[in-house]
Amino acid sequence: MTGNGLILQVRDLRVHYGAIEALRGVSLEVSQGQVVALIGANGAGKTTTLRAVSKMLKPSTGAIHFQGEDVTKLPSHALVARGMAHAPEGRGIFLNLTVRENLDLGAYLRKDRAGIAEDAEKQFSLFPILAERRNQVAGTLSGGEQQMLAVARALMSRPKLMLLDEPSLGLAPQVVERIFSVLREVNASGVSLLLVEQNAHKALQLAHRAYVLETGNVVMQGTGKELLASPEVRKAYLGE
Ligand code: ATP
Repeated sequence: MTGNGLILQVRDLRVHYGAIEALRGVSLEVSQGQVVALIGANGAGKTTTLRAVSKMLKPSTGAIHFQGEDVTKLPSHALVARGMAHAPEGRGIFLNLTVRENLDLGAYLRKDRAGIAEDAEKQFSLFPILAERRNQVAGTLSGGEQQMLAVARALMSRPKLMLLDEPSLGLAPQVVERIFSVLREVNASGVSLLLVEQNAHKALQLAHRAYVLETGNVVMQGTGKELLASPEVRKAYLGE
């Protein structure tokens, strides 16, 4: 953590896909212990922002500080080792491996087998449905269960900051409720969250702060409450 209480500080991030500039100078901050949401239309650059922060892709320019350290040049595994976990879009779990094997892969940088087994049990108490299915291959799980597995797997690296890409995508309302209540619990246990969501309403309810992205730029920011009350946000992202 930095002296100013920020766990993540992103400055002027630019990302190109060939000739396309997907991020045009994005700056954002996550304070220690906070949930920060990124909302915006399809193609606004939300997924690209998470990928650039976790180094699944290389930013063209910009600076990223994690817990006060300049990590701009570090590869993704070095970030995982420092406490950043990314639960990517499309979940990124292995469908032909069991639930337990997927969890073990989330702890791939750790060597303490007893600690890993203990943490797997922690995830099973957070997600009882995964405990029942621990020896089933992930491909046989429902969409909601797979999403829970993606979150549980990210938690296996004992992150201090978790990046989550669309955890509610394609899930029934009841399952979305469950996912969000787990995210609230995870945050209450001390993990900061940077959350990308199409479900702007739920994201803003959970978030301490939020940013609105439009065509690769941050166009608005504020507390979750402020953005929920903003007429522009209500019209553009809350379907009013
Ligand atoms: P969505 O909700 O649809 O995932 P998003 O806000 O996450 O949208 P990104 O996926 O980050 O947006 O995309 C930002 C821009 O970059 C879009 O214009 C998109 O078409 C483009 N883009 C994303 N990935 C690639 C890629 N691999 N190659 C080329 N262009 C890409």
